[in-house]
Amino acid sequence: MAEHSRLAIASLRLKENLRRQALKDSLTGLYNRRFLMETIEHSVSRAKRHSSGLGVFMLDIDHFKVFNDQYGHGIGDFVLTEFSSLLQSVLRKEDIACRYGGEEFTVLLVDTKRELIAGIAHKLCEFVRNHSFHINRTEYGPVTVSIGVATFPENGSVFEQLLDSADKALYEAKNAGRDRVVLAAFEGEGIGPYVP
Ligand code: GH3
Ligand code: MG
Ligand code: MG
Repeated sequence: MAEHSRLAIASLRLKENLRRQALKDSLTGLYNRRFLMETIEHSVSRAKRHSSGLGVFMLDIDHFKVFNDQYGHGIGDFVLTEFSSLLQSVLRKEDIACRYGGEEFTVLLVDTKRELIAGIAHKLCEFVRNHSFHINRTEYGPVTVSIGVATFPENGSVFEQLLDSADKALYEAKNAGRDRVVLAAFEGEGIGPYVP
């Protein structure tokens, strides 16, 4: 009987570990896109229920192809990993950071109002720009990131709209010169670079 229980518990642990691995990105340890898709819908429903705000960032490292070409893929991987740690250090533990794919990341800022959300993105952008990415004494960079920001409820009431709005804002941030934050348009506010 005891042996039976021991095996059942081991099997449950194994399943749980496999599930966790399937939801995490192996390079950076962040959640993967699959987890994001499972979670964002739930986060939007929760924000609706509690009439709270929600922020969605789409982040993309600037000129990363050139960076890889210049320093090699190994250093590129190091930057992706360090960037992910920076992301987590700036966010609160209840926020969710995911590697969307390649050098693109998505962040969900839970229970946060629009007034604060763009400021957090701006701080993150600055933090990355000023961070020294180095191994031993060799510094690699500059590394900068562009961020498109959308907020619930202003930019949509379903997660697809929010991701799409954040993605469009990211595209604007790239076109406007990179290394900046663009907040998706809401009524009279208009789309444009975020000015703190
Ligand atoms: P942009 O500023 O417009 O985003 O330019 P970009 O060069 O960052 O964008 P592009 O989409 O042209 O290139 C993305 C690069 O990201 C190309 C690819 O080699 C690199 N990349 C994607 N995934 C990884 C990875 O896991 N490791 C490394 N080292 N590089 C990666
Ligand atoms: Mg990209
Ligand atoms: Mg890029």
